[in-house]
Amino acid sequence: APPPPAYDVERQDLRLSDVGGLTEVKKRLNASFLAPLRNEELRKLYGKSLRGGLLLYGPPGCGKTFLAKAIAGELGAAFLHVSLADVLDMYIGKSEQNVKELFEIARSSAPCVLFFDELDAIGMRRSQMRGSSQRGTVNQLLEELDGVGSENEGVYVLGATNHPWDVDPALRRPGRLDRTLLVLPPDQAAREAILTTHLRSRPVERIDVRRMAKLTDGYSGADLAHICESAAEIALMDSVETGNVRMITMADMEAALRDVRPSIGPW
Ligand code: ATP
Repeated sequence: APPPPAYDVERQDLRLSDVGGLTEVKKRLNASFLAPLRNEELRKLYGKSLRGGLLLYGPPGCGKTFLAKAIAGELGAAFLHVSLADVLDMYIGKSEQNVKELFEIARSSAPCVLFFDELDAIGMRRSQMRGSSQRGTVNQLLEELDGVGSENEGVYVLGATNHPWDVDPALRRPGRLDRTLLVLPPDQAAREAILTTHLRSRPVERIDVRRMAKLTDGYSGADLAHICESAAEIALMDSVETGNVRMITMADMEAALRDVRPSIGPW
């Protein structure tokens, strides 16, 4: 059977305002990435090129992918999500070709955010590199990255990793993924914002979001999304059982909380 595709193109309607917390990160993103992209006159004035991309790093489940999608949404760009580990694993001997194809797809879908997840995979693979095929992939990626901002007009490259120290330093040189954003676990205010986001379009009744945020130190954004999901499921199952449609309550949230373990250790 042919390998499943390692990527898919989506349109995004997420916005930065949908991202909970991360106030400083969003501010920096606006000032150093989005604003210059949007303002050609200022860019020209300061001689700022469109070269290079962003590297998002931080613990799992804290919103790197979510943030990348919101950036695509803000730019009105397509979102091409690529797991670099998959590209390297699935296309043994073919990944060089595949990297080329990815950038072609991105160019033909421009404006397009090309999002490389698990960017450290290429660093790790490099140390256990067998022969020249992996080196070819790295070099292909570097070559394509160097075209961003010139021939890759309208292609915005973002990378993400949980292990920034494993990312190949060649990928980090000026003009490549040269700007970094640390995406930290949500603090209490951020957790409150994230919980609010995930409950917004659900039927809820007197949920004390502030208290939930207090109780969830060490929980990632993904964990919090999971808690809201589970609470909704409890209420849904109840409604099916009793034939009586009811709201999601604080008791459901607390029950869900007992079942979801916090996934963030020390970082
Ligand atoms: P990984 O390193 O595991 O890929 P990640 O940092 O890319 O993790 P996301 O996939 O962005 O994490 O987050 C998982 C889910 O958690 C999101 O789809 C979203 O529902 C929720 N989430 C995480 N962080 C936030 C946030 N800051 N605001 C709103 N939702 C969030």
